Amino acid sequence: MPAKGQHRKPRSLNRLTRVCIAAGTGAAALALPLVSVAHASAAEPAKAPAVSAKAQQYTVVRGDTLAKIATAHHVKGGWKSLYNANKKVIGANPSLIRPGQHLTLNTAVVKAAPAPAKKAAPAAAVKKAASPSGYSKPVGDAAIGTPYHAEGSNWSSGYHTGVDFLVWSGTPVHSVAAGTVVHAGADGSYGNDVIIRHADGKYTLYGHLTNPVVSVGQTVTSGQEIGISGATGNVTGPHLHFEVRTTPDYGSDIDPVAYLAAHGVTV
Ligand SMILES: [Zn+2]
Repeated sequence: MPAKGQHRKPRSLNRLTRVCIAAGTGAAALALPLVSVAHASAAEPAKAPAVSAKAQQYTVVRGDTLAKIATAHHVKGGWKSLYNANKKVIGANPSLIRPGQHLTLNTAVVKAAPAPAKKAAPAAAVKKAASPSGYSKPVGDAAIGTPYHAEGSNWSSGYHTGVDFLVWSGTPVHSVAAGTVVHAGADGSYGNDVIIRHADGKYTLYGHLTNPVVSVGQTVTSGQEIGISGATGNVTGPHLHFEVRTTPDYGSDIDPVAYLAAHGVTV
């Protein structure tokens, strides 16, 4: 009698494991009923579930509370669910979150059992949420300070050549797409910056970093950490200056928000 049960169960579990790995989704896929996952064909690796169950990454900014984040991002189960999914990052006290901490916003935790939620927690699942085009955000959800093309005497071209994301020093900065590092280090008023050339011939620039964590010639993937944000160069406070150029040179900038949007990334 036990033999029957033992024979069937391992088979379903093996399949479940394979499908999850293929789909690249963490927690959410694990929470699916075995039946529906087992029916997913190899050619179509659980496509629909992967879309409906996306885990977004969020970087805590000053003034945040778990409740505020949960409400703003429609986290199912509210702040308690958010806390439970990020206990490893936050620690024992849910009212103590710090700017720069990376949280996973699981917007698909529909009455998820505690067990699968735990399996979802590892950092690997938190890593990145790239759009179907392979592009991702340079930093987690952060407010935009000075927009692109703001006019002013602060800039030698007479206008702001990029967009500023309001993040505190110490926030991990990620490449928005795969590419090759063409500059990493001191760059005048940009402070320490990283410039990456992408397959479409465009360049992205990440300025005012505390320090780059990549070097010239290195290839990077979308979402890969390339530096730590800071306040180096010509700044009035810490932020990430993100710029997109058609050449490696100053003055060839294009609208960075529109560029990301064209690749399915909304900031
Ligand atoms: Zn700027």
